[in-house]
Amino acid sequence: MNQDSDGAVEHEADEPGIEYPGLFLKKGEDARLRQGHLWVFSNEVDTGRSPLTEFTPGEIVAICDAGGRAFGLGYINPQALICARLVERGLRHPIDKSLIVHRLKVALELRKQLYAEPFYRLVFGEADGLPGLVLDRFDDVVVGQIGTLGMESLRDAVLEAVMKVIKPRCFVWKNNGSVRKLEALPEYLEVPVGTLEPLTRVVEAGVEFAVDIANGQKTGWFYDQRDNRDRLARLVPGKRVLDVFSYVGAWGVRSAVAGASEVVCVDSSATALAAVTAAAAANGCGDRVRTIQADAFDALKKMRQERERFDVVIIDPPAFVKRKKDFAEGRLAYRRIFEAGMQLLSRDGILIACSCSHHMPRSALLDTINQGARHLDRSVQVLAQLQQSADHPVHPAIPETDYLKGYICRVLPS
Ligand code: SAH
Repeated sequence: MNQDSDGAVEHEADEPGIEYPGLFLKKGEDARLRQGHLWVFSNEVDTGRSPLTEFTPGEIVAICDAGGRAFGLGYINPQALICARLVERGLRHPIDKSLIVHRLKVALELRKQLYAEPFYRLVFGEADGLPGLVLDRFDDVVVGQIGTLGMESLRDAVLEAVMKVIKPRCFVWKNNGSVRKLEALPEYLEVPVGTLEPLTRVVEAGVEFAVDIANGQKTGWFYDQRDNRDRLARLVPGKRVLDVFSYVGAWGVRSAVAGASEVVCVDSSATALAAVTAAAAANGCGDRVRTIQADAFDALKKMRQERERFDVVIIDPPAFVKRKKDFAEGRLAYRRIFEAGMQLLSRDGILIACSCSHHMPRSALLDTINQGARHLDRSVQVLAQLQQSADHPVHPAIPETDYLKGYICRVLPS
């Protein structure tokens, strides 16, 4: 390994022609990366040796320790707080289409092992070795979401790799969402391959749905709760079920298919609820699924006044703690909605309480559920702890990848 006068690092042994600018870390700042993490924060960089302003945004860099030893390749965004992400440990494989093809094949192998049908999250960013990239597969339609400038620079290679490994009929870039703002990336929807139909079919555990990818939430579907929804079969037969923040009814319609006697789905979006009704009809349970379009907090309050009761209440809301500084306020919102859900439960009923907020730790979620119950003079038994489905693997060194938490609880009178 040499460093020439420009600060470029050349790897002599394996790839004589490859040269990358070196990103030099301060002393000791390589330790977290060596332990498995993939992010470099801008305050960890030795900016005297490698000034961030001298890098081209999005370019590939050799990440080096304070001793000058390059230990991996990554991409850089000098303007972002997370200024670089490690993509390849070692220097043998350049970050290009063939590396992405390899990572995609490894990712695909897992999903094929997990699910009989081609509906799943194919790539979950850092946890699949492709930081900043999400790919959701809906059979022959693949939806991509990029969250970083470095991955945006690899966009064409990603698309080529997907066309090689998956060969979808249609590929969609649904590049929106708040994370892009952190990297000053524009938001856009683009369909570089095929035609995106107004509705795309999703099959989850044999239950049929149709989602509007362009206008729906996130990529159109929440695969992260799929494995958790598989647990409904043991909880809902013969029961009245309330699905709060239902979106297109993944929990609710699956409950009805699993034998619930009656299901009510609550969401503020009329289009989402139209999809609930369509899915219920398509799966032969239209007579047991009802929808309420309203703010969830208002709807639950009203149902309480009307003395409605449910045996199972599912609360799977959008993230209430979007930023760390929103923690106190967001936690209060969770507490209020969980309490409202418990007030609608029949005696010894089941509450499924979830949070997809990165900044809401598992322990805080459980405390919140317990505090809500105690405030109502009830007690909770935790029957199961939930996390995101296996097609969203957790990266053990990156707590942010462990974002979805939930508890299945039985709520007793006191
Ligand atoms: N539980 C769903 C995903 C929920 S996404 C699933 O498993 O697929 C969040 C949903 O909450 C969206 O459909 C959005 O329209 C709805 N929503 C957001 N704020 C709301 C509010 N205050 N009241 C009711 N619905 C709300």
